[in-house]
Amino acid sequence: MGLLSLGTPLPWEESRQYSEHIRKNGLAQLINMFNAAYNRSDDKYLWGDEVEYILVQFNEKLKTAKINIDKDYILEDLNKSGEMFELAKLNNANFHPEYGRFMIEATPLKPYDGDSIDDYLYVEKNMNMRRVVAERALNDSNIKPLTITSYPLMGVGNFTEPKSEPNGNASRSLFLPDEIINRHVRFPTLTANIRKRRGEKVAINIPMFQDKFTSKNDESIPLNRGLFPEDEEPSLGAAKPGHIYLDSMGFGMGCSCLQVTVQAPNINKARYLYDSWANLAPIFLSLTAAAPIFKGYLADQDVRWNVISGAVDDRTPIERGVEPLRKGHEYGNIREDHKDHVQRIPKSRYDSIDSYLGDLQTSNEQNQEPSYRFFKESLNDISPPINDLVLKLLLNDPNKHFDKPLASHFAHLYIRDPLVIFNERINQNNEQDTDHFENIQSTNWQTLRFKPPTQAATPDNKSIPGWRVEFRSMEIQITDFENAAFSTFIALIGQAFIHHPDVLNFYIPISKIEENMKLAHKRDSVLNDKFFFKKNVLDDGYEFGEFTMDEIINGGENFIGLIAIVKTHLKNNFNIDLTKDDPEHSRLYYYLLLISKRASGEIPTTANFIRSFVTKHKEYKQDSKINDIINYELLEKINRISNYQNENNELVEFFGEELSTYLIGNKLVREQY
Ligand code: ADP
Ligand code: MG
Ligand code: MG
Ligand code: MG
Repeated sequence: MGLLSLGTPLPWEESRQYSEHIRKNGLAQLINMFNAAYNRSDDKYLWGDEVEYILVQFNEKLKTAKINIDKDYILEDLNKSGEMFELAKLNNANFHPEYGRFMIEATPLKPYDGDSIDDYLYVEKNMNMRRVVAERALNDSNIKPLTITSYPLMGVGNFTEPKSEPNGNASRSLFLPDEIINRHVRFPTLTANIRKRRGEKVAINIPMFQDKFTSKNDESIPLNRGLFPEDEEPSLGAAKPGHIYLDSMGFGMGCSCLQVTVQAPNINKARYLYDSWANLAPIFLSLTAAAPIFKGYLADQDVRWNVISGAVDDRTPIERGVEPLRKGHEYGNIREDHKDHVQRIPKSRYDSIDSYLGDLQTSNEQNQEPSYRFFKESLNDISPPINDLVLKLLLNDPNKHFDKPLASHFAHLYIRDPLVIFNERINQNNEQDTDHFENIQSTNWQTLRFKPPTQAATPDNKSIPGWRVEFRSMEIQITDFENAAFSTFIALIGQAFIHHPDVLNFYIPISKIEENMKLAHKRDSVLNDKFFFKKNVLDDGYEFGEFTMDEIINGGENFIGLIAIVKTHLKNNFNIDLTKDDPEHSRLYYYLLLISKRASGEIPTTANFIRSFVTKHKEYKQDSKINDIINYELLEKINRISNYQNENNELVEFFGEELSTYLIGNKLVREQY
């Protein structure tokens, strides 16, 4: 998330008057961006990660662990001049606001140099320092910035510190107070506008884990509140039997994740990288699974993705193709004169990507038209809804910067309405500004994001970022070691793609990636499921098969495995033969070992570890419920693990003998660099 615009955000009833204005000008901005930056070439492989933290306040006496919602001022301290800002800068850390008042995000201030092996080894140190700086800014030893994907007791009783009540008008949630939402007006407005456009509160139903004494229904739903008209929605059918019912944006946007952005040398390589990463998104969602608990219940799934997807789902009933909860409300609150143009939209604006961009290659031979190396149109086999006008305009762009797959990509993003418009920013200079484009782009939250440069990013202006691609599916892990392992893995394999666009062919029909995305949600999908994957990633064909996670990562009879690709790349590009005995690079060896062991099932995923902790806890009553003490002890344990402490042998349980021995012996010391 970039800097927050200041100003007056428009409520939905006003905002919807400008939807077309934003789209039209956002498109003009996009075309200008392409005109400026299309011919950039030889940009460096720079990259960076984003880590999101949840501020957990422990109370040892009462044995509670709540989310803290009054320390958000630290973000200002860390971003405005002063001691904390200096400390962040000194440690190359940059702190960003997030949806939750109890959340912070941190990135490296300067991106890493992907051509420098030292920088891959620096990632974890930088992550470590971000925690140190955050803890210093918090200045309260009871409050910890934990890297957990979901806070287990979100929406259960008094779960905030200080206390707050679920009676706010922005979300109108039965469970989540508006006080958990970032104070900046953008966020409550976003929350309210999604609800208003949809015409109902969001309704997320997550399958409840069925244990011996699990109740048939979510027992936490207050049935007779009568504070807002929406309070009756669960009894009108919004809450499904056998499911955990979540009714507010905060349940999803209050989750933390791990993202990686890399810069490609030019637009065509960025497109190829995007396509090559496409199927890794579900694979790495499954492998990083870390969210088995929502609203105090064990879920019958392991990840956050569909929770966030539902949490920002602003589609009206008619767009979703379902009956409205209240008769006559099928159009939600879209504009009267837009009702004629409504189309069916199968997916939320937070979802997996819908199409490949195509691996366009420009030939060196004269008069040779650009062509695709591996991509073919039939791989884009799910026909997402598109904005026809946008498609036409882009295809007719006189500079011919948009071929069919690229134009279709943007035409799909442009089916959405802008959700928050600032009154002061309605009229812009399309030669310079990008807000309108970003408004649409940054509220299409997909597994990957193709990030075009701004109008200032002309080929000679290297100080402005170029064509970037973002990998967005991963769940945040408990330790910096794991977060560094997964980020560097994604960056390294991304670099292998960039270096071998003629060799590595990961294309399978996009509909199969959709299926993988569903599989990745399942409980222990790492162990139990087979994912669709290209059979031979080194051939020109398209034959795919079904593979276990172990085969995909570690290789098997018919597949070399992703780790082998990364190792080969390290050898070819950095001349490194990775072994545990190489003192300089052994940490990278252990990163791969972690990923390998998670994939083979030798050590548990974070979700599996959390779930077993709960089900084995003496207070657990086989009813799928997590109480205060289980929550407290779980988060204490997570806090200890994040410090590589091995009380009760828990580091060994989590990482296994080999990795925990290594980690205990090779801790990154938490101090200022
Ligand atoms: P967003 O939330 O929109 O994804 P952030 O600013 O939070 O954006 O994160 C962007 C990431 O991209 C950071 O890790 C940052 O270090 C990295 N980054 C910055 N500049 C570049 C660049 N030129 N190329 C690649 N990555 C970059
Ligand atoms: Mg960010
Ligand atoms: Mg973020
Ligand atoms: Mg991001």
